[in-house]
Amino acid sequence: MAASPSEPPSPAAEGIINVFWDDGMLNHDTGKGLFDTGFDPGFLEVLEKHPENSDRIKNIVSILKRGPISPYISWHSGIPAQIPQLLSFHAPDYINELVEADKAGGKVVCDGTFLNPGSWDAALLAAGTTLSAMKHVLDGHGKIAYALVRPPGHHAQPTMADGYCFLNNAGLAVQLALNSGCGKVVVIDIDVHYGNGTAEGFYRSNKVLTISLHMNHGSWGPSHPQNGTVDELGEGEGFGYNLNIPLPNGTGDRGYVHAMTELVVPAIQKFEPNMIVLVVGQDSSAFDPNGRQCLTMDGYREMGRIVRSLADRYSGGRLLIVQEGGYHVTYSAYCLHATLEGVLNLPLALLSDPIAYYPEDEAFPVKVIESIKQYQNDVIPFLKGS
Ligand SMILES: [Zn+2]
Repeated sequence: MAASPSEPPSPAAEGIINVFWDDGMLNHDTGKGLFDTGFDPGFLEVLEKHPENSDRIKNIVSILKRGPISPYISWHSGIPAQIPQLLSFHAPDYINELVEADKAGGKVVCDGTFLNPGSWDAALLAAGTTLSAMKHVLDGHGKIAYALVRPPGHHAQPTMADGYCFLNNAGLAVQLALNSGCGKVVVIDIDVHYGNGTAEGFYRSNKVLTISLHMNHGSWGPSHPQNGTVDELGEGEGFGYNLNIPLPNGTGDRGYVHAMTELVVPAIQKFEPNMIVLVVGQDSSAFDPNGRQCLTMDGYREMGRIVRSLADRYSGGRLLIVQEGGYHVTYSAYCLHATLEGVLNLPLALLSDPIAYYPEDEAFPVKVIESIKQYQNDVIPFLKGS
């Protein structure tokens, strides 16, 4: 039967994004307060939900089901991770601490990071769902998978929680890929914050190239001792395999795309990964309450396109996308939609940007990117001569 003109064209098999999701992850209740403090100072009539709340993820689920990208989405459920699986990335003492905290009814694990009743089960689901998404790709059932998960994970270090994160979902998936025979994995993290947990987990490895584009926020306390600066390069065999790209506040679409084409693409060309993990956070958008960068849907779409072309070229099209931050409750969903449009390499935008308007001045970000490039090419053995 011929499709009616109003029906979207049926996408080719390789144009499907396999989304892994389980609504049990909504049960992580981070509470209310003055922004992310969980604290009521007593001066305010109206408190707000913690930025890492379930509404943001409900809207991402909703836009993938009801938005124009929906014909390209295949839905899969997630399962909780088992404790032994967590030990591929995390130290046993740290996991025991979380298990005990859950048994005791909860704990403020670090600033803004609340393990409440239901949180641990949600964290296990987020980790297990991300592992399922990676396994789907590794087993050859699909080329592109998106782990739509919360609580987020990229700040969680092997021995420490940080920044709303308990378990490093992406790190666990990378470890699964390595254990399944992938020789080299690259992680590209475009959340506005430094993916310090993932970097720390693979800091001494030359099998995992961790690349993080973030605002220049520096260390933010004992749970986040890393600075995210260009000189945090990895150690031992891993020296040169952690690339930090701290971008000036206000970097927007053109600045981010410049960083991708000048720094990320050449590094991946030299590294030649056989698996690509894209860690996405929409807190690098122009309207996020938790970030100071200025990406719009156009920038996310273009970065999705670049990452897809890298996957097609190096990893046989295999790409795992992992959800991290993104705290504007409505715009985050639109930005994720645009990112996936780019990943699908669709010729035209499916959804226009309803609110972007900030003018971008990329001159300073471009200068910073040039100086990072010079520095990396001077000191990193595998990039020399780029
Ligand atoms: Zn973030």
